Amino acid sequence: MTKRVVLIGHPVAHSLSGAMQQAAFDDQGIDAAYELWDRAPIALPDAIAEIRGSDDFLGANVTIPHKERVVPLVDRLTEEAQATGAVNTITREGKRLVGHNTDVPGFKVALDHLVGRQKMPRVAVVLGAGGGARAVVYGLIREGFQRIVVFNRHLHRAEGLVKHFGRSAAHMELKAMPWHESIIEAELAKSKVLVNATSIGLTSDISPIPADVIAPDLLVLDLIYARTRLLRDSEAGGSTVADGELMLLHQGAAAFTLWTGQPAPTDVMQKALSKARAGGVRSAEGEPTGEPDVATAGSAGSAGSAGA
Ligand code: NDP
Repeated sequence: MTKRVVLIGHPVAHSLSGAMQQAAFDDQGIDAAYELWDRAPIALPDAIAEIRGSDDFLGANVTIPHKERVVPLVDRLTEEAQATGAVNTITREGKRLVGHNTDVPGFKVALDHLVGRQKMPRVAVVLGAGGGARAVVYGLIREGFQRIVVFNRHLHRAEGLVKHFGRSAAHMELKAMPWHESIIEAELAKSKVLVNATSIGLTSDISPIPADVIAPDLLVLDLIYARTRLLRDSEAGGSTVADGELMLLHQGAAAFTLWTGQPAPTDVMQKALSKARAGGVRSAEGEPTGEPDVATAGSAGSAGSAGA
């Protein structure tokens, strides 16, 4: 009987993960279907209960905005899910559900690729404090970063993130700071790595920060799977940049292995991603596709300060 894997998010229409995972199942001869479940937060507990209640399910992916909310709904957390307080993948152990966070290994691949042959830096600025940012901050702590400053539109969420990491960050400086351009600029001047883990730039061609605060030697990673305005500005100023493609691919590959017990066909998944993107499909993770409209790109500005 065909097994089921679902992506739970809100919204989830036109998922790139769907194309990527279905291609992997088909390539490996696994009789499984990847389904998209658009569930508002209020419907999340029922969705999780449905997966727990039927052997038909191999598991699930969880995306915006549920990654943190799903944590208390599963029965066991892996070390990475526990450490981040966020779950993006669920597997079944009999009637028990296990919450994993494969964004963590996905982020590691993306960071290693961005840093390349350079020495791993020690100071980073992270924009955003949602589920994605939690995987980023955890990954940076594990890499040995000594100072990480988290900026978020709603400061209390960044403060909650810092509090969550209290123990694992005890040996280093992890700070939440209010979203003011002058403070971001001052922190960027001391940093080597900038990660955008907000969804600013996802649906419109704006950058979270003005181009002139981005130093030329910065390494800039945008989790959004597109050549965002932030990345274009950074590249134009001489920075090294990467988008969220590698993270998306490798979080998906890790999830595939968890559900099936088999190595993921990453080349097949990569091709499916590229094809879906070229075909104008947008992801459940929200990545806009293709290059931004040049006309809009020329006129759009930075997202500015808090509340943008
Ligand atoms: P969440 O919904 O958990 O968090 C969204 C974040 O974006 C919050 O920090 C939120 O700030 C901020 N934000 C949203 N809109 C605005 C705005 N208009 N102005 C300022 N801040 C804003 O989402 P995730 O953390 O799961 O995802 C965040 C981004 O990372 C998405 O673009 C997603 O596509 C990407 N991502 C990519 C992955 C990949 O594999 N490539 C993996 C995970 C995420 P506030 O708290 O103040 O609302």
